[in-house]
Amino acid sequence: MKKRKEKLSDDFIKNQKSKILLMVQDCEKQLELISDPKEKQNQTQILNHFQKILDLISNYPKSYGICVRCNGDIEIQRLEAIPTAMVCKKCI
Ligand SMILES: [Zn+2]
Repeated sequence: MKKRKEKLSDDFIKNQKSKILLMVQDCEKQLELISDPKEKQNQTQILNHFQKILDLISNYPKSYGICVRCNGDIEIQRLEAIPTAMVCKKCI
């Protein structure tokens, strides 16, 4: 597993984890309300993505916040705005 160069504080990780958990729960609630199959499929994909990040931050907190394109650190400000971000600002 890759590790971030700039370490994130335990408090930051804890905070991000609760934010992502809320996003997962919210997504699950929304999914129950959707009846359109296409929309349901899209929402399921989003939910899977959120759950993957939640797994990562829970099991490998040191690997959270790494850009999937350049393997660099994702900016802390960006993670604060989007806890489930997969790429850094340069790679958007
Ligand atoms: Zn990047």
